[in-house]
Amino acid sequence: MLGNWSLGDYFKKEQLPWILDFFTKDLGLSQEKLWVSVFEGNDQVPKDEESAEIWKKLGIPDSRIYFYDAKKNWWSRTGSPDEMPIGEIGGPDSEIFYDFGKELKLHENSPFKNEECHPNCDCGRYMEIGNSVFMQYKKIGENKLEELPQKNVDFGGGLERIAAVVNGDPDIYKSDLFIGLINELERNSNAKYEDKKRDFRIIVDHIKASVFLVANGIVPSNKQHGYVIRRLLRRSAIKMHKIGAVKNIIETSRKVANQVVDTYKDRYLKDNNALDISVEIGDEVNKFSGVLDKGIKLIDKLINEGRKIDSDLAFDLFQTYGFPLEATEEYLESYGKRFTVEDKIKYDDRFRKHQEISRTTSAGIFKGGLADQSPEVIRLHTATHLLLAALRKVLGEHIVQKGQNITKDRSRFDFPNTQKLTDEEIKRVENLINDIVSKDLPVNFNIMPKNEAENTGAIHAFN
Ligand SMILES: [Zn+2]
Ligand SMILES: [Zn+2]
Repeated sequence: MLGNWSLGDYFKKEQLPWILDFFTKDLGLSQEKLWVSVFEGNDQVPKDEESAEIWKKLGIPDSRIYFYDAKKNWWSRTGSPDEMPIGEIGGPDSEIFYDFGKELKLHENSPFKNEECHPNCDCGRYMEIGNSVFMQYKKIGENKLEELPQKNVDFGGGLERIAAVVNGDPDIYKSDLFIGLINELERNSNAKYEDKKRDFRIIVDHIKASVFLVANGIVPSNKQHGYVIRRLLRRSAIKMHKIGAVKNIIETSRKVANQVVDTYKDRYLKDNNALDISVEIGDEVNKFSGVLDKGIKLIDKLINEGRKIDSDLAFDLFQTYGFPLEATEEYLESYGKRFTVEDKIKYDDRFRKHQEISRTTSAGIFKGGLADQSPEVIRLHTATHLLLAALRKVLGEHIVQKGQNITKDRSRFDFPNTQKLTDEEIKRVENLINDIVSKDLPVNFNIMPKNEAENTGAIHAFN
């Protein structure tokens, strides 16, 4: 989103000519292609004649100036003038649309063909490329607004849309902000964008969002921001699977991620290492791809047997394979099937019960911490610290202690990871720990302030 603000400085008579200049002189758009909208007024606020007059003076004819009601051309945080509480500010806005032309017959071929076409029509002929919001009024009583002493302008413009318009093609995915990603995906699959537009768009959009999240330091996980990346990449992986022709989902995700960095490296991603980002994306897709294959094979099999994928089957898929509900829902879509609302409620119910059971189980059987201070327990305690360090080396920094319990006979250590460890990973963890143990290093302890301890590189699970 592009924007500019005036806080009590320039207003309509400066801002509207400037933005028109930007579109026609800087970007070279033909003024004949530009249409504008203005607030038509209501019983509380007058028609925005001021903006309409400015547009006319700038050479936009009456026939390309459209007046709309508060639903389209009024801004406040709470909605139309009558929805505004007393004390709230708001004002009219003026939008600029680019006309892709009658010749494309977008309107005639749309569901709106029986209605009249106009700038806010949803047929796609007109694309809104900018909106100037004029914060001009304050509500002072029931049905009563007055002019603010200090007026503001908030302009917003869509970068991708503007790129599409300059490109002369309403498809933003064909602008140079996306075409590199689309081409990369085509190169790595036997499918064509023209045949699978929706799937291609979802894939590149989701990978692009993930790249920006990773570039901002978010790591895929099961929580908060980390879970957003996880879901974005899972959806993209399922779609790649769905178009059926992607040669290698992990490698392709990595390559598309690289294209994102390439596209934005001069502006937004200049301080980021492209390799780090694409490796992170590839690793996350890799973690999911095994689960994806198993889950999808099973769903295919069940559907071929004529079975309905209901809440019970979906829950089994989750419990047995770690195949998440959203993946089941997404994949069912490719069969033209839907997971019903009732199924979803039942699933959530089972999921909650499952969580409760595992909570009470761990509370009852395992009490956290150490059983006693016997030499066996102390030894296992130290070994558990080595285990955490080794797991972080082998699996990554996302490994933290989620719970632990040590008795004379064994140590239990809980940590989050999306997948079961492979034999090879377990071996590497064992070797790392045994290496340290065999060095017979001196063990000592030191009491120090928390921040000093953290400076030594110590990690902890307490906040
Ligand atoms: Zn239309
Ligand atoms: Zn400890």
